[in-house]
Amino acid sequence: MGRIDKGAKCSVSGCGLDAVRSISGEKVRTAGLKVPNQKRAYLCKEHYKEYKKKTKKDKQLEKWRYSV
Ligand SMILES: [Zn+2]
Repeated sequence: MGRIDKGAKCSVSGCGLDAVRSISGEKVRTAGLKVPNQKRAYLCKEHYKEYKKKTKKDKQLEKWRYSV
């Protein structure tokens, strides 16, 4: 989760909004977002929200899995 270059655009296919976050591309792909096969993925506000939602869900799932 680092700084982003000025003018960077969201990496999600078909989006192209201004990016607000740069995240490891692998993590973003694991969360199910369509980004190119690159080390860093740029996410706009909306897709970052989606990414957070999905990673949160995964964490909850893990908690559930291990608490049983
Ligand atoms: Zn986007």
